[in-house]
Amino acid sequence: MDMIDPFGRSISYLRVSVTDRCDFRCTYCMAEDMAFLPKKDLLSLEELDRLCTVFVEKGVKKLRLTGGEPLVRKNVMHLIRQLSRHIDSGALEELTLTTNGSQLSRFAQELADCGVKRINVSLDTLDPDKFHAITRWGHLAKVMEGIDAAQAAGLHIKINAVALKDFNDTEIPEILRWANGRGMDLTVIETMPMGEIDADRTDQYLPLSLLRANLERQFTLTDIPFKTGGPARYVDVAETGGKLGFITPMTHNFCESCNRVRLTCTGTLYMCLGQEDAADLRAPLRASEGNELLSNAIDEAIGRKPKGHDFIIDRRTNRPSVSRHMSVTGG
Ligand code: SAM
Repeated sequence: MDMIDPFGRSISYLRVSVTDRCDFRCTYCMAEDMAFLPKKDLLSLEELDRLCTVFVEKGVKKLRLTGGEPLVRKNVMHLIRQLSRHIDSGALEELTLTTNGSQLSRFAQELADCGVKRINVSLDTLDPDKFHAITRWGHLAKVMEGIDAAQAAGLHIKINAVALKDFNDTEIPEILRWANGRGMDLTVIETMPMGEIDADRTDQYLPLSLLRANLERQFTLTDIPFKTGGPARYVDVAETGGKLGFITPMTHNFCESCNRVRLTCTGTLYMCLGQEDAADLRAPLRASEGNELLSNAIDEAIGRKPKGHDFIIDRRTNRPSVSRHMSVTGG
């Protein structure tokens, strides 16, 4: 039953964007006046559950809910509670989510009760004014409350920071000390050319090879084989006793070990974050009550998974590599 793509990669990780809407407008992610997917096209929570369940039956072991902001989807906890049955049965090894943290203080305990053990919280700066500037609409204090609540509920947190030139490059050491000091790993991410934004990505793009070289002036970084099922490559940080991950889609693509596909809230399956090709799963989902059509459509889509992405950020290529924003597929 396992899903194996044409390059022999086993697909065991599904990311689901449960909504493309968000209560932040991070400048590198979205334009301020974003056009969102029409609400009428959205899959219901029951449909999302059915789709995820078919993927679990087809060998998915790790399920990550993302967005947009997953915790702003109405009644999302109902979906998470439903999905937790696959954790209880042992079919699913991990149910997790990526969040901006704004709603975590409300939901942390319930997430822990549903068998969620680890979450990723996106946070690009510890300065309240810079935080408000980069997110346009967010408040750092609220996110900090959410992180406190999540840790109090026993959730393990990984902090994700997009490395942005002249914004947080000099602050990464402080973020690293803060995160590791609170028992959280930190992952830094290269900005990817996805969707039109109001800024020029060339001005924001910071190759992580440069960042790493700068960090090595202050920290002793040792490569380690640690993996969480995602694309980050980790180092141990001697001075903090914690871990730092690098996600480098631009300077070192990690497609050879890709085990993921991405589902949108309207039932479109993207086989690669950096390519336009997609498969519609909503029609086969709605065409019959049984799952055979859906299962066949998934197999057909996995059979088209491309070898990799080809993101480019430079002044000559002044266009996004893919037209959709990260909020559609959730990163
Ligand atoms: N709202 C949730 C959050 O903030 O984590 C989940 C969705 S958000 C799109 C997922 C991650 O993608 C965040 O860490 C965000 O910083 C990152 N992201 C958004 N646009 C990006 C881009 N163009 N390049 C790299 N990372 C990006």
